[in-house]
Amino acid sequence: MSDWYDETLYGDVAQRFRMGRVLYRDKTDLQDLVIFENPVLGRVMALDGVIQTTEGDEFIYHEMLTHVPILAHGRARRVAIVGGGDGGMLRRCLENKTVERVTMVEIDRTVVDLSVEHLPSISAGAFDDPRANLVIADGCAFMKETDESFDVIIVDSTDPHGPGAVLFTEEFYRDCKARLTPGGVLVTQNGVPFFQPQELKDSHQRLGRLFKDASFFVAPVPSYYGGFMAFGWATDDADLRRQTAEAIRPRFEAAGLTTRYYTPEIHAASFALPAYVLAALK
Ligand code: SAM
Repeated sequence: MSDWYDETLYGDVAQRFRMGRVLYRDKTDLQDLVIFENPVLGRVMALDGVIQTTEGDEFIYHEMLTHVPILAHGRARRVAIVGGGDGGMLRRCLENKTVERVTMVEIDRTVVDLSVEHLPSISAGAFDDPRANLVIADGCAFMKETDESFDVIIVDSTDPHGPGAVLFTEEFYRDCKARLTPGGVLVTQNGVPFFQPQELKDSHQRLGRLFKDASFFVAPVPSYYGGFMAFGWATDDADLRRQTAEAIRPRFEAAGLTTRYYTPEIHAASFALPAYVLAALK
């Protein structure tokens, strides 16, 4: 009889994953971390009872949260990632050959080390790329103190509890905005609207008070169950999220990207929000 991993993100609904070999299960200095094998999704990582990434479907989330803002911006050379300990976001940023430097600010060194050891297919060597700059720090403190500026900031955080809570605050968003170059874009992991509508409303209000254009784009990520996953979108250039697939395609081709989910058509369509999501934003 094999074990099951029960996600504990919600109180009244839950998903479970058959656990094959458990590669790691312990507390880091900050979080409960488990990495195990599942027959369908490959290797899976969870933090504090919440699924973070799987080998099987990581490409959807990581391709969308990198290629959409970077290709929409059109001239992004310096990117920041806050969180992203598994290295998937770093890898996808660096696959874009027009990106010159990616600073990744991750609070928990153990997540990085164990991801490189047990989930090497996700980071795929990204941490060794000379354009990668890994900083082990609280992303909130980093954005307050750094004098670096970025064309795109990607918040690839855990959910708003534990160390991730500060990454959903207006203070953090304000400090991110101060670190963006003119026309820069901030994007965020913003939960599953069907089960986490308040997280969406909160981010929309906070980002809306700071940026001329605050909205969301979506993609279905099987292991973040509950329908669409929402990604926060914030910039002072309101035209950026209204670009057509035809406008994006030359940049996609110039970037030399190979993708399994992202296409210029998916990019343009991802900003079309379902009526229930629009209603939650009213
Ligand atoms: N894809 C996942 C999701 O949608 O929930 C997120 C993956 S990634 C593993 C989340 C990372 O955020 C973790 O490595 C965690 O250590 C990091 N993190 C949490 N709070 C942080 C903070 N305040 N500063 C920097 N990194 C943080």
